[in-house]
Amino acid sequence: MKVADKVADSGQFFSFEFFPPKNEETWPRFMQTAERLADLKPLFASVTYGAGGTSHDNSLEICSRVSSIGMDVVAHLTCAGAKEESIDQFVESLTENGVEDILALGGDGRKNDETASSRFNHASDLVHYIRDRYPRTGIAVAGYPGAHPDSPSLEHDIKVHAHKMGHGADFTITQLFFDHRIYFDYIDRLRELGVSAPVLPGVLPIQSLSSLKHIMSLCGAAIPGDLYCGVEKAYEQGGDEAVKEFGLDFARKQIGSLLDGGAPGVHIYTLNKAEMCENLIRLLRQDGYFN
Ligand code: FAD
Repeated sequence: MKVADKVADSGQFFSFEFFPPKNEETWPRFMQTAERLADLKPLFASVTYGAGGTSHDNSLEICSRVSSIGMDVVAHLTCAGAKEESIDQFVESLTENGVEDILALGGDGRKNDETASSRFNHASDLVHYIRDRYPRTGIAVAGYPGAHPDSPSLEHDIKVHAHKMGHGADFTITQLFFDHRIYFDYIDRLRELGVSAPVLPGVLPIQSLSSLKHIMSLCGAAIPGDLYCGVEKAYEQGGDEAVKEFGLDFARKQIGSLLDGGAPGVHIYTLNKAEMCENLIRLLRQDGYFN
């Protein structure tokens, strides 16, 4: 069964995001982490593509290995500046490895010389292409409850998101955010434009001050001032262990609010670390979720 169908049919669920480790020597350790997290029975795992300097071949290989340990995989795929052949090759290799779902992305960092020769400018072009050429493939897209950093306004971003969905995407996974109210506002705005497909909130459990700073600088998402001050205070008082505890408690409450408010599930940014996610899912199960 495609992940897109499971997302539409499942009760409240959680899923995980992994990134392919750059260095092949660390893949066995990565797979140990993935196996620990597979034991928690997520609905699916997504694997990033080309982010953080990893090669596309690595993404493919990691998708295939994660799929081989029994997790359904959504493979991220960026299109900016891409050629049709490379997209075909990637999608067909995924299918051969039992991966039926793609997170269709615009992506960053296109080189100028690639721009003119590519028919792919935005994620919507990739959604259109895949829906047409590979009608059986499940398609997810990225959404930005706080607006994409390059977008002139939230209103514009939501309109182009509705356009992207209109090309045949099945569901949305959001950028990380920390205030559940912006998720519900985003949902209301999308519903007003007739977008009814599931929107999975992306949740980052804060694991350390340095990783928080690094991620926020990469993704351009916003963090509420009081939350950031809370993380800094925890760090000053007890270092990274105290930050982990603070982050765990915050993520537990954030996810509870999202699920109570009607989110279909949550997509958890694992940072390829098992312990925080294991603790988080255990606590949420104690709270009555995902049982
Ligand atoms: P798009 O939908 O193309 O949007 C990009 C910008 O263009 C936005 O500002 C949007 O408002 C605007 N836009 C879109 N369509 C139109 C249009 N028709 N007309 C005018 N403006 C338009 N990056 C990676 O490199 N690898 C990954 O694996 C990866 N995974 C991600 C997973 C998630 C859940 C998220 C939220 C982001 C991820 N990214 C990843 C980052 C992503 O590639 C960047 O944020 C990128 O800048 C935008 O991708 P997009 O798919 O949202 O693009």
